[in-house]
Amino acid sequence: MLASELLPAIYDPQKYDVDLSRSEVPNIRLAFEMACTEARSFIDLLRDGADVQLGLLRFAFETFQECEDQGMGYRSLSLAEVLSARRSLQWLFGIFLNFAYRAYWRHERPDCYLRFVEWAKRAPGWPVVVTTNWDFVLDTLISASYGLDIIDCGDCEPSLDVFLTRYVAHGSPTGKAISLYKLNGSLDWLYCPSEKGYFSPLFQPPWNMGALTITQTLRLKFHNPDEPIPNELRPGYCVNCGTPLEVRLHTPGASRARLPMEPRIKQNVLAAVRNCCELVFAGFSCPDEDRDVVEEIGASLRINPLFKSGDLIPTVIDIAGPHGQDTKNRFERALATRIEYRDIGFKAWVDSLT
Ligand SMILES: [Zn+2]
Repeated sequence: MLASELLPAIYDPQKYDVDLSRSEVPNIRLAFEMACTEARSFIDLLRDGADVQLGLLRFAFETFQECEDQGMGYRSLSLAEVLSARRSLQWLFGIFLNFAYRAYWRHERPDCYLRFVEWAKRAPGWPVVVTTNWDFVLDTLISASYGLDIIDCGDCEPSLDVFLTRYVAHGSPTGKAISLYKLNGSLDWLYCPSEKGYFSPLFQPPWNMGALTITQTLRLKFHNPDEPIPNELRPGYCVNCGTPLEVRLHTPGASRARLPMEPRIKQNVLAAVRNCCELVFAGFSCPDEDRDVVEEIGASLRINPLFKSGDLIPTVIDIAGPHGQDTKNRFERALATRIEYRDIGFKAWVDSLT
């Protein structure tokens, strides 16, 4: 499911093949309908009669953040109601993207993603993928294919990052490695509200939160309060400060969402770009809000030896496109270099790889 389909799906989930009637979890349908109702009334309040379009998603996330920062509600809603609407919306997105993910595995093997990972493995050095996607199809396949210790998500201190440590120690990656930087976070990342920091599941317990915990969060919702909570349903606590962790998403392009884990992820993204052998932007169109970070990536790219020798041309894959020349121009201006722009979709692009 594309980001542009997430809000329409809360109004008409059946149209997007979201069918919870056969769930093993009792009451899931009721909980789902309640979340849809709550999310819809919040979005209706925001849009005030306007169409449901992608910009509204950004507006919604900015509004959540502003209300939280200022400790204020929105129009007729209290702060608690606004934050509850955010939880419902994120929970629904988790379900929608999880459905898309499962449907993908059920109906066809994700051949194009697998071929992409194979292509990255064949690359002679360090491929770097930058994306704004929340789902984790690619993460899962990379983990399965590479092993956990050599994926760099860019979310930890470089000194703790196994891959970067190897890089620093050996001057080059040992074995094969890939970086997958998710600029807007991910459904399986966790947020520490005290530190205002994000962590991938590798670096915070319970290592199984996110979209995969939809069933768990539901079980918790309907858990009998007289019985002890089983361990697998306990919320995770931050390893740094002990605060309960949350699932928190940002919307693509939101000004506040840019590189939410600064400075850690930024440091790692820019370090990776200076040394990578392939640079792929997957799934975003470089809106104005993303321009600053793409410009910084461009500055790092110009230090890259392979780029300087003309052996590295960044690739932009317009998954939701085609958006045509506009996207290409925006990337070329922000990166200050020519790019390989593929608006034929991810599958066709992968098919074209040798
Ligand atoms: Zn913390």
